[in-house]
Amino acid sequence: MCGVFGIFGHDEAANLTYLGLHALQHRGQESAGIISQHEGRLKSWRQMGLVADVFTAPVLERLPGRAAIGHVRYSTAGVSHLKNAQPLMVEYAGGQLAVAHNGNLVNGQAMRDELEKAGAIFQSDSDTEVIIHLIARSKEPTFERKVVDSLSRVEGAYSLLFLTEKQLVAVRDPYGFRPLVLGRLRNAHVLASETTALDLIEAELIREIEPGEMLVLDESGMRSFRPFQAARLGRCIFEHVYFARPDSTLFGLSVYEVRKRLGRQLARESPAQADLVIAVPDSGVPAAIGFSEEAKLPYDVGLIRSHYVGRTFIEPQQSIRHFGVKLKLSAVRSALKGKRVVVIDDSIVRGTTSRKIVKMIRAAGATEVHLRISSPPTRWPCYYGIDTPSRQELIANSHTVEEIARYVTADSLGYLSVEGLGEAVGDRESKTFCNACFTGKYLTALGGESAPVDRLADNVRPLAVGKS
Ligand code: SF4
Repeated sequence: MCGVFGIFGHDEAANLTYLGLHALQHRGQESAGIISQHEGRLKSWRQMGLVADVFTAPVLERLPGRAAIGHVRYSTAGVSHLKNAQPLMVEYAGGQLAVAHNGNLVNGQAMRDELEKAGAIFQSDSDTEVIIHLIARSKEPTFERKVVDSLSRVEGAYSLLFLTEKQLVAVRDPYGFRPLVLGRLRNAHVLASETTALDLIEAELIREIEPGEMLVLDESGMRSFRPFQAARLGRCIFEHVYFARPDSTLFGLSVYEVRKRLGRQLARESPAQADLVIAVPDSGVPAAIGFSEEAKLPYDVGLIRSHYVGRTFIEPQQSIRHFGVKLKLSAVRSALKGKRVVVIDDSIVRGTTSRKIVKMIRAAGATEVHLRISSPPTRWPCYYGIDTPSRQELIANSHTVEEIARYVTADSLGYLSVEGLGEAVGDRESKTFCNACFTGKYLTALGGESAPVDRLADNVRPLAVGKS
């Protein structure tokens, strides 16, 4: 998961991109970059770190021009390293080219192997570079046609922004896995992963970039194309559960309202005898409010989150992950002491974080801890741009709900059903959403090395369960 932002036709393109990336910081905290277009040349700045640390006023002054694209990253393909920071920028026979990518190509490795065998030399580990090589090698006469030619050879998730010396081109894959919206700020056009970035710069939302659409912006205006074969829609339902900001409108729905509906549905499906509902902040808060409304139980703030450390789930190293829980969350004793508590979280991945949270709540004086999860058990990895661990590491892949409850030391554990999740986004059978991490029903072939799904089942590690 990453965030992309682009603007065409504004004198302060880089400054507005900087603001837009701030609003998208939750989508990636490893690196940030902006590339601007000025007098027919591209100017670039990329560094590891948060947007506020990477960009200073003098840096932004070195990024003049009326068009820019930006990116915040965390690694789903390629290690966490500056060489993989985006937007990537190259010079090729067609001129200068920059690209910012949110998503993951399922045949990225296979395409890379093929290109390397044909002599291509890669500068990064990122699957995005495959697209650049394909564009550079395309025999098509125009940049737009080179993009279409290249993307017709890759499979998977991509919301892409390309910046050339003359154009800004936006493309969304035919499944629509990752979001991408179009807005307007006076005469300028704006593109962003989420509407919250438009809100921050006071741009007006025009619409989503449609799945399979290519939008070209240049001095002659804006043109839209539908160059790809239509596919069954596969908008990522987990964006609504966890990733997107609750103040965004995603796939036409308010993320905040969807999360409240998840909580209400969860209360109907998995009620608990308790005194209090609390959330694992921040993403669990709207679902906890929905649960409390439906269950007619008071909602309170039982856990406080420090906002000065990264999100546990997307930190790439195991050592940081374990340390991060204690750094990030603390329990409010006065709210929890002597209470039977329902705790709402959005998902359980390995179970280690949930176990620490339950213990923390109990140590603060709660007499019972009932854990409720506002999504179904995460049993399958994501190959479409979310950094889930391998199937062996997903606790729900190899353990029953009762076993997981014992492992995390909860008095009870309940998950939302797959149908309940679909219901909250107005699509009970998830016919227009991807829910593969809950069902294993992937929408694409899983090419190259990213297709070990069936083989892993024999190889699951046993996990000790039991109350401690
Ligand atoms: Fe989203 Fe899960 Fe599908 Fe990945 S597998 S795109 S996280 S719903």
